[in-house]
Amino acid sequence: MNQKIRDIDRAELHAHLGSSVPVEILWELSHEQWIRLPVSNYDDFERMITMGKDEKNKDLIEMDAKYFRWTEIIQSSPFALREAVKHTIWTNYRKSNLVLQELRFNPMNRNKSWELDLDYVMISAIHGLDKALLQYSKVKAGFILCLDRRFSVEQNTIILEKAIKYKNRWVIWIDIAWPLVDSFDIKKYKTIFEIAKWAGLWTTIHTWEEWEIEELRYVVEEIKPDRIWHWIMAVQDKKIMERLAKNNIILEICPTSNLKNSKLPNVEALKKTIRTLLDNDVKLTLNTDWAVMYNINIVKEEEFLLENGIVTEKEIKQMYKNAFEYTFIK
Ligand SMILES: [Zn+2]
Repeated sequence: MNQKIRDIDRAELHAHLGSSVPVEILWELSHEQWIRLPVSNYDDFERMITMGKDEKNKDLIEMDAKYFRWTEIIQSSPFALREAVKHTIWTNYRKSNLVLQELRFNPMNRNKSWELDLDYVMISAIHGLDKALLQYSKVKAGFILCLDRRFSVEQNTIILEKAIKYKNRWVIWIDIAWPLVDSFDIKKYKTIFEIAKWAGLWTTIHTWEEWEIEELRYVVEEIKPDRIWHWIMAVQDKKIMERLAKNNIILEICPTSNLKNSKLPNVEALKKTIRTLLDNDVKLTLNTDWAVMYNINIVKEEEFLLENGIVTEKEIKQMYKNAFEYTFIK
């Protein structure tokens, strides 16, 4: 055991299950399920689902097509999803002392285009989490169900219904994920988020960088989620930063993810963005987003920020403090 890692209790609020499952577990799962992979040895498989050190995606669509597709296929069975949840939580605790983990996923992206029953998908994820917590009693965890911008409002409403149905079985939040598509209109989601809040769910939203700042304003002023994954554009508008600070809306920052997906050009731009938010009293939490794809974990993310003089140790501790304070896993 690395005592240095155990010295800090860590919490992560923004990790996609899709790319948080260790490579060796995905390799095992693909073989257990007789999946015909396009590669036949482990090293090639690792290269297929993880990014090289200097590699970048042009955008999230490229990221999905190049790296994410296979990881989602491998996890899409009741057996595999249970194992994926369990091993992710265990690995995060053992390697990074993550004692609080919010994992997000979209159950409808794991039912093989309706071949599988969504309730079995949910129950399988819940069983995986039950087992993980039984074996590592220090850990707390829960699920965020992601709606998808590429889906219709009707499809996303079904995901909301599942979130409400399993609210007392580890589902605590809903989110909207994936990039903007022409058919998506955030205004159609105000009611969905109102229903979620009324049902006792907490809410968070990926409001992507490609968007016009008006979209972010609409989210902050009309939908008012509890947390937001959108921090790059927020620095362009002092009023938005004031609103975020005043209303205690937390920003979930994922530094490596933004560099890897070309949302920020370089480390200098990353530093400027984070410093501007901190200087304007916006509360932040530190997260990995798609850890396995980027070959990182939360400890490596800390080291990256410190080595580049982006934040201080005290500020990192404050980010974890924020995460423990603003999680709704109790
Ligand atoms: Zn994300």
